[in-house]
Amino acid sequence: MSDEPTVFGRILDGELPCHRVYEDEHVLAFLDINPLSRGHVLVIPRQRVARIQDLDEAAAAAVGRIIPRLCRAISRVTGVEEMNLLVNNGRRAGQEVMHVHVHLIPRTEDRGLRLQFAPGELDQAEGERIAAEIARMMDGG
Ligand code: 5GP
Repeated sequence: MSDEPTVFGRILDGELPCHRVYEDEHVLAFLDINPLSRGHVLVIPRQRVARIQDLDEAAAAAVGRIIPRLCRAISRVTGVEEMNLLVNNGRRAGQEVMHVHVHLIPRTEDRGLRLQFAPGELDQAEGERIAAEIARMMDGG
């Protein structure tokens, strides 16, 4: 990650404005400047890292902890219960701002967000292999 502050780092530093909806010692949540729908919120950790896998546990827990409350508040204000929670994690995954953020996107109409899944089929032998490998990695932390 470059040493240049990202736009979200600059928001955290108070250099850039934002429409804040929540903050605590670990987390800031604010409106996306180019919303995909009304009430599109971004949740960011104060920890300045690009990818989910670089977050420490306190920051990750704080982001996770606040999401249900934010979703409830957004739903009550917009009247929309259905949402996509989206993390573009890495450039290939569509990440443009290299500071971890979770999108909370109310789904109003078929506008703004188009997700298309092209699912494959899990081969049983390969499934056993890769699940065992990942499980082994998890034992190592
Ligand atoms: P991603 O990195 O997941 O592709 O998306 C970055 C998101 O940040 C975009 O939805 C974009 O509209 C939003 N964004 C980029 N710059 C700013 C900014 O200066 N202020 C706010 N509030 N949102 C921003």
